[in-house]
Amino acid sequence: MIPYGKQAISQSDIDAVLEVLNSDFLTQGPKVPAFEAALVNSSQASYAVAVNSATSALHIACLALGVGPSDWVWTSPITFVASANCALYCGAKVDFVDISPSSYNMCPKLLEKKLIVARENGTLPKVVIPVHLAGQSCDMQAIHALSMRFGFKIIEDASHAIGGRYLNKPVGSCIYSDITVFSFHPVKIVTTAEGGAVLTNSVLLADKMRLLRSHGITREPENMRGDSDGPWYYEQIALGFNYRMTELQAALGISQLNRLEEFVARRHYLANRYHSLLTHLPLSLPHQHPDAYSAWHLYIIQLDLSQITKTHLQVFSELRSQGIGVNLHYIPVHLQPYYQDMGFKKGDFSHAEHYYQHAISLPIFFGMTDEMQDKIVNVLSDIVE
Ligand SMILES: *Cc1c(COP(=O)(O)O)cnc(C)c1O
Repeated sequence: MIPYGKQAISQSDIDAVLEVLNSDFLTQGPKVPAFEAALVNSSQASYAVAVNSATSALHIACLALGVGPSDWVWTSPITFVASANCALYCGAKVDFVDISPSSYNMCPKLLEKKLIVARENGTLPKVVIPVHLAGQSCDMQAIHALSMRFGFKIIEDASHAIGGRYLNKPVGSCIYSDITVFSFHPVKIVTTAEGGAVLTNSVLLADKMRLLRSHGITREPENMRGDSDGPWYYEQIALGFNYRMTELQAALGISQLNRLEEFVARRHYLANRYHSLLTHLPLSLPHQHPDAYSAWHLYIIQLDLSQITKTHLQVFSELRSQGIGVNLHYIPVHLQPYYQDMGFKKGDFSHAEHYYQHAISLPIFFGMTDEMQDKIVNVLSDIVE
């Protein structure tokens, strides 16, 4: 089976992890700060805090922005459940803003409409979480302008988008947001096995998130309420978690980040090749906005079912049975049973639901060869033509 995504581990990655195993620190050593410095360097944000997953990153990002009970958090229905769950962890309420049918990202026009209604009802969101689906940035200028007008904070869920650019600046620079979140799960662009990070330009938010990553404990005298009892002394000043990244993960991350541009360039090559090989088929190819340089985490097609004699499920199943590890990103979050129990129902977000009935993620990853891609294109052509 050709998988839809796969990590690319080099000998240098392996050497970097082995070096840590033979060192004094498996956790809380020098590699995590070095990885954070590398993330700051590549994203051009001022601060990075590395954690054990993007899910943890989203949680502490919400907490740092003050999300709590009675607050609203809005995100896209076409995302992984973690983008919405982070608000529920804080006791807040979740709502969704439908996607644009061309970019599959949160639609700024629909966001504006929903904000106008929310202002009348007194239910404006505290935080909006745009998700850069497949690695293509959302229209952050428009979303940022709305945040100024309606007074909400922005967390970019850039789990798919490290190495991507928006208006010629790296995704993660936080020019149009308060915090950006990256994921380093093995299917994403760069990996630390499990792992994530938050980026921000605010020293206050960075300090808060560093505190929440490790039990809410500080060893900095200037942050303590009392005087130090001695060299062993620390104070817990918030309710934090153990969301720390290990030294092994950070060493892998540093090594992987060295190849970020190479990883994304290869994904661009493969995406461009798909564009030209698939143009004649009854499908829509992923539309690219000129403002965005995608990281191409996913290559998502939509079937033109009016021109295909098979159903979406049949096309998907035939691809799988012929060794093409396609996937579907994502089941709209509001249709998950857990969210339906909160009152969401079919029909609530029609663009997202239409997308779900037509979308298929084709394999795309650094190690995919031209031959693999030719096979995928040939199998897909035979199925839909
Ligand atoms: C992968 C992913 C997450 C969660 O990442 P983890 O590192 O696995 O916790 C969150 N949001 C989106 C959009 C993702 O793709």
